[in-house]
Amino acid sequence: MIYMDYNATTPCDKRVLEAMLPYFGDEFGNPSSLYQSARTAKKAVEKARADIAVLLGCAPEEIFFTSGGTEADNWAIKGAAFQLKDKGRHIITSRIEHHAVLNTCKSLEKVGYEVTYLPVDKYGVVDIEELKNSVRKDTVLITIMYANNEIGTIQPVKEIAETVKEKGVYFHTDAVQAAGKIPLSVKELGADMLSLSGHKFYGPKGVGALYIKKGVKIAPFMYGGEQEKGKRAGTENVPGIAGIGKAAEIAAKEMVEEEVRIKKLRDRLEAGIKDRIPEIVVNGHPEQRLYNTLNLCIKHIEGEGILLHLDFEGICASSGSACTSGSLEPSHVLLAIGLPHEIAHGSLRLSLGKHNTEQDVDRVLEVLPGIASKLREISPFWNKGK
Ligand SMILES: *Cc1c(COP(=O)(O)O)cnc(C)c1O
Repeated sequence: MIYMDYNATTPCDKRVLEAMLPYFGDEFGNPSSLYQSARTAKKAVEKARADIAVLLGCAPEEIFFTSGGTEADNWAIKGAAFQLKDKGRHIITSRIEHHAVLNTCKSLEKVGYEVTYLPVDKYGVVDIEELKNSVRKDTVLITIMYANNEIGTIQPVKEIAETVKEKGVYFHTDAVQAAGKIPLSVKELGADMLSLSGHKFYGPKGVGALYIKKGVKIAPFMYGGEQEKGKRAGTENVPGIAGIGKAAEIAAKEMVEEEVRIKKLRDRLEAGIKDRIPEIVVNGHPEQRLYNTLNLCIKHIEGEGILLHLDFEGICASSGSACTSGSLEPSHVLLAIGLPHEIAHGSLRLSLGKHNTEQDVDRVLEVLPGIASKLREISPFWNKGK
């Protein structure tokens, strides 16, 4: 099997699994209890908090564990909105956010909040001027993702954060695709809140974290016990937290080297596909893009068809389209960057990671051109006269 869908999820690193196992076994205590195995569990949680703080360049007290990226996004957005509801009820986001952000914003619209969905340019970049012009007296939160999961475009987050600071509005960034992949420092960024997720950087699924800058007040998301300083109640997912901590520790040490290796593979894949298949559109920013992500449209054919054929060859990839209520809707991200429906339908996302090799790239280059021409042969949109 060749796995090229690392933006969807990553395999758990063996060292991460090792770090988790004790807390399923002898060290099963509840971190809030007062005996030895509980203290060991509590220590593991605090070590993980410190490891994530190192990855993000913040203080451990600014890290709060959640059940994943989705919860971190929900909490940041609703928490800020509810906390500041007497100041204002306007939120700014972009049209290319993950559904964890978009659908949270939509849910707030139903209860009296107003949301501005900023457009992006053809590379998927938010216009800073447009952002500035959208800020109103009643704006309480701006949430713009760090790097896009579909096309890989990296936003000018630092500039956005600076703009926001001038205006005195909270700034949250969904950094689920960036954290553990590229070095980032919340101090340098100046973000008030930042979401990350374990399973996107070789940690376990079902655990994530929200960075909340010291002094930033948001409403709690879960009510119950006093865990996470009363801000996120519920007995801690100790094995998961130990796992995400280990993943952060590994990423901090190894991500720079990985970047060099994986970028080479991605670039080779991109160049190879462009050489071998005519009428290709590569999506995302040419430079300001995640080093592992290649999103392209093969004109005149459908993404799903490509995926089925790739799967038959043992290759795992993804397409921008998601099957919504029976009809195939092209990705909101590809539509937002201005692609017409028929081109957006032919999208293919290959996202690389730790276990990919040159042989993997060569194998994809070997089979993809054949799949493309086979599908084009039966496509009513393909001009066979060519
Ligand atoms: C995967 C992802 C999420 C959701 O994270 P989960 O841990 O799967 O809930 C949110 N935002 C982005 C950009 C993602 O890629």
